[in-house]
Amino acid sequence: MKKKKKAKKTGKAPKKPLKAKKAQKKAVKKTAKPAKRAKQTEFKTVYISLGSNVGDREEYIEQAITLLRETPGIKVIRRSSNFETQPQGRKNQPLFINAAVEISTNYSPQDLLLLLQGFEDTLGRDRSIEWGPRTIDMDILLYANELISEDSLTVPHPLMHERLFVLEPLKEIAPNVVHPILERTIKELYNDKKAEGITSEKYDEELPGFREVKRGIADDYERW
Ligand code: AMP
Repeated sequence: MKKKKKAKKTGKAPKKPLKAKKAQKKAVKKTAKPAKRAKQTEFKTVYISLGSNVGDREEYIEQAITLLRETPGIKVIRRSSNFETQPQGRKNQPLFINAAVEISTNYSPQDLLLLLQGFEDTLGRDRSIEWGPRTIDMDILLYANELISEDSLTVPHPLMHERLFVLEPLKEIAPNVVHPILERTIKELYNDKKAEGITSEKYDEELPGFREVKRGIADDYERW
């Protein structure tokens, strides 16, 4: 059997990540408690993107997924592989690991956003540098077929179709899901973006889980 190798560490973690269970308890405690959430009995399918470029990036992604898994009202249905990607926006920072997860949840969009922000805080996210390095970034990409346009929340995520680092992991778990505004599947959006002349190369086979390193992504948007 092939021996699993850990991903290379990049940068320095500002804070040692807490053990997942402890972290989850803390995060859930300080964010939306099930009892305080707006009543929503129906479970919806939601896609979330994950990104990390500080410390043990793979571990932060795993911890974030564990936090989701252990939250009542959230079922993690599937997750993508991890992809290593070039930073967008502020270029002078370590490479990212990106992934996507499908969950089924009865959290409202707003409560889910609060929960994810609590998880980001728990996992040591430093918000002082805009578009800067982050232990974990968790964004809501799609919330069923809902269209949300509020000060603190836009769904579908307004930049998701512009970002290969979002589309590639998402395509792996939801190729045929249709973007409710663009009315194109994730696979089509990915192919459109890829056709813009972006090249990719195979990632080092020695690092299991990391499929490709992106080169020269033509993304005008900042990471946020
Ligand atoms: P971040 O990606 O964590 O830097 O998020 C920056 C801001 O984006 C937060 O203050 C959120 O309120 C806002 N935001 C708007 N739409 C979304 C979304 N779909 N998912 C996550 N954050 C969002």
